[in-house]
Amino acid sequence: MDWNSIDGCQIMERRFLLLFGSQTGQSQAVAEEIFEKALEHGFQPDLHNINETEKKFNIEKETLLVLVISSTGDGEPPDTALKFWRRIRKKTLGSDYLGNLRYTILGLGDSNYSNFCQNPKNFDLRFQQLGAQHFYSMGFADDAIGLEIVVEPWIDGLLSALTSQFSEKSENCSLDHAISDKNQQTDLKPQIDETDNVKDDNKQDNVANAITTVDLAIVSTEKELGDIKVVEKTIEVSSLVKSIPPIEGQIVVPALPHSFLEVHYSEDESIDLDSLCIQNGAALPSATTDIVMANIVNVSTLTRQDAVKTALEIQLEITESEMTFEPGDSFGIVCENSRDEVEELILKLSVTNVADSVCYLKLKEETRKKNAAIPPFLPTRTTIRHLLVTCCDIRTPIKKGFIRMLAEYTPNTLEKARLQELCSRQGSSQYTHFIREPNLSLLDILKAFPSCCPPIERILEHLPRLLPRPYSISSSPLVSRKHLNFVFNIVEIPSGSGRQYSRKGVCTGWLSSSQIDCNNKPKIPIYGRKNLSFHLPSDLSIPMILIGAGTGLAPFIGFMQHREAQVKHDQDLLCGPIWLFFGCRHNERDYLYRSELERFHEVGILSNISVSFSRDNSTSARYVQDNILLHSDSVCKLLLEKNAVIYVCGDARNMSKDVNNTIVTIISQHQGIAMEEAKSVTMKLRQEGRYLEDIWT
Ligand code: FAD
Repeated sequence: MDWNSIDGCQIMERRFLLLFGSQTGQSQAVAEEIFEKALEHGFQPDLHNINETEKKFNIEKETLLVLVISSTGDGEPPDTALKFWRRIRKKTLGSDYLGNLRYTILGLGDSNYSNFCQNPKNFDLRFQQLGAQHFYSMGFADDAIGLEIVVEPWIDGLLSALTSQFSEKSENCSLDHAISDKNQQTDLKPQIDETDNVKDDNKQDNVANAITTVDLAIVSTEKELGDIKVVEKTIEVSSLVKSIPPIEGQIVVPALPHSFLEVHYSEDESIDLDSLCIQNGAALPSATTDIVMANIVNVSTLTRQDAVKTALEIQLEITESEMTFEPGDSFGIVCENSRDEVEELILKLSVTNVADSVCYLKLKEETRKKNAAIPPFLPTRTTIRHLLVTCCDIRTPIKKGFIRMLAEYTPNTLEKARLQELCSRQGSSQYTHFIREPNLSLLDILKAFPSCCPPIERILEHLPRLLPRPYSISSSPLVSRKHLNFVFNIVEIPSGSGRQYSRKGVCTGWLSSSQIDCNNKPKIPIYGRKNLSFHLPSDLSIPMILIGAGTGLAPFIGFMQHREAQVKHDQDLLCGPIWLFFGCRHNERDYLYRSELERFHEVGILSNISVSFSRDNSTSARYVQDNILLHSDSVCKLLLEKNAVIYVCGDARNMSKDVNNTIVTIISQHQGIAMEEAKSVTMKLRQEGRYLEDIWT
């Protein structure tokens, strides 16, 4: 253990290991936030990607660990954590292998999925089995309601817990005094949050209180009607640009993030943008292939014009040597932002004259940001337009540090004050209500606060990477190895609730835009994705229960095409029954692939189809789970006596949890066992790979 001398006092080096295991970059971003705050508080975090195990750290030699890790799919570790996970799961490790380790975990997950934060819980259990102990309670942040609701108070509590950890070993140290002395300086308004976090209150309590509120105020205005004075009382409501009544007292705003990027323009040079590496080598989530260019050969609309959502099916032409697939696989689309939205951003940021010039990104030599690096998804020789169209996510609701930076470049005092409120600790519920929940983009904020005009360098420091979007394949390679179909709903996001303009989803908007004109055989960048389980059973006699809503039908169409082709090839094949439970809104408007499904039923590929219509009053079954209940006896027999496999696919927001609960209920009723026991049976089905989910939000 290293010991340093600070202010004449011997203290133990305030080092701890800070690891992140990230699938989409969120855990990394949170770990980096912890890193910055810990440094500001005099700690020495040793920050690493968890996949650097053995190269940069050895867990058995560590004494203090903070792990930020996400849960993917059905509670699996992110790809980057697999190596570490395999290492600590070795059966040969003793129960004191991590006996010297004190640790805490911040788990990131999404409660729309059945096993919320299962992966962080698995890590926790394994650490405990190996003798490690908590020094601070775990946090579970939920993307479904906003990660920051848990992340921010958890980090505050972590800093206190770290302080206690080191003070236990190094009493009367002057550094802690120095920090807590600084905490007393609270007279400034707004107060900068550099030192504020080392208070001893348990910020976890804030989580329970993190409800969003809309403030109201009754405003009296005097009006003259002839000789009479009338007092008109109106109710004013808080909005994005105004808090009513104003947040009282001092507010605590985050420290201004250190700048670290420079942009240099070279107006005489030209650049071939097509040759720029797509995604610039940043890791593609769950990729099994490189990016390949696929021709769009057909686009068809699957829904009627009056359907609530428009579903499109696209057929792509791929080269077999570059990409192969199985039914049930998904693939990633490397999409672009809307060019019109980028044009508006360019105008708002006053960079029109340089937007298409060649530019070089460099690190600021004098930056105060620790470990500053150019984000790997940004090419260093490029154009501003290219960065905004293909590399940066310009839609993600902007984070508080970003707002803090914007406030710095907002000359109008009222606008500046409001931006400061929105990123302040006191304005936390307003941030959630006015920015995160309505999904406000950078352009929304720039439009709502017109005097705000930051330099493009500062913007690029804050924008996250534009992530590819995954889609389930809805065709079988036995029908065509050169063609891959997929189906999606166009995401329509209206203006309102602070959104200054209506928009479509980034990828579905791009796919449905005029830029994708089939006659020109446009090409889009795609890549294959890993899928370990959502496949057809290798034994064809095993029955399948397929449950899907909306575009969740996609992989099942691929399954049925595949089965049909297998049977055509060998008519003696012994095939188990396939039951389909499908849900949509209206029988007449959005019953996807209706004729195909009816045909599969007629030719015997599908044994049973049950379709529920959530918005047609005429049917008794509104949701897929209602039909499962109606057929509970058959479903239980298939499942418990014939070893059927359940496949659930579609938007996870409600369906997958409801289906899970229904399966538990019918097992409980059918077997005459308690719900708890039925839950264990269902969990066992999952563990045995007989309850598979491919769900998204
Ligand atoms: P985005 O730009 O990402 O916008 C979506 C966001 O907009 C969401 O956060 C949502 O909260 C927000 N939003 C939507 N409506 C509103 C509103 N009214 N107000 C405010 N905010 C709103 N999708 C399919 O359609 N078909 C598939 O086969 C399919 N397969 C998938 C397979 C996997 C493994 C996964 C993970 C996802 C799959 N998806 C599928 C989802 C798909 O990847 C995209 O997320 C989806 O198409 C939306 O992408 P987008 O870029 O158009 O929308």
